[in-house]
Amino acid sequence: MTYPRELIDPIILKNKEFDLEGFVFGNGDFSPDIMLIGEAPGEVEIRTGIPFTGRSGKELDKTLAIAGLTRDQVYITSVVRSRPFGRKTMIDNTGQKIEKRPNRMPKQQEILLHAPLLDYEIAQVKPKLIIALGGCSLKRLIDNKMTISESHGNIWHGKIKQLDTDSNYVPSQQAYDIFPTFHPAAIFYNRKIEPQLIADWEKLKKILAVRAI
Ligand code: URA
Repeated sequence: MTYPRELIDPIILKNKEFDLEGFVFGNGDFSPDIMLIGEAPGEVEIRTGIPFTGRSGKELDKTLAIAGLTRDQVYITSVVRSRPFGRKTMIDNTGQKIEKRPNRMPKQQEILLHAPLLDYEIAQVKPKLIIALGGCSLKRLIDNKMTISESHGNIWHGKIKQLDTDSNYVPSQQAYDIFPTFHPAAIFYNRKIEPQLIADWEKLKKILAVRAI
């Protein structure tokens, strides 16, 4: 999806005030029933310009397959469209100082900066079901107090957070169905959650069948 220039230009300009690089547009069927919302692109994604094309993308493809879905049936985007990076100074094997820029979680101000883009995409796509991939997405959409460990695998129905013209989060006019689950990269840090993650996507397959999505 392309965004209106008047929406995207000020955001790309303001990215420079943060440690954010690149810009990845949402990807997929223009009007699908299902929308997936991740956290932020990583190094691979800002090179390919396509969400979830790195290591976590491989995991995402596996889980989509469990639910009987392929990428061309869904729309994929994330809370922040640029890569948030940290700065780490290290010494290489020749004794030279080098700066590493590892991925990091987006900060609240960065999430706020990119919020109009996500609101715009949701309004355009009009998804019947939103899959919130990970805590960042869940908190941005519903409530900062919600956690994936408590809410994963169950449909949540209600109004979601949207930004008003004064940059405050307000409830959306419309109510949405949200299916929270783990971010695909979560298993790299905690293998123990894998059975729960698989069970979520199996459950999703049943939900989609009942709803004929
Ligand atoms: N994580 C995300 O949330 N999005 C990507 O595109 C890649 C990793």
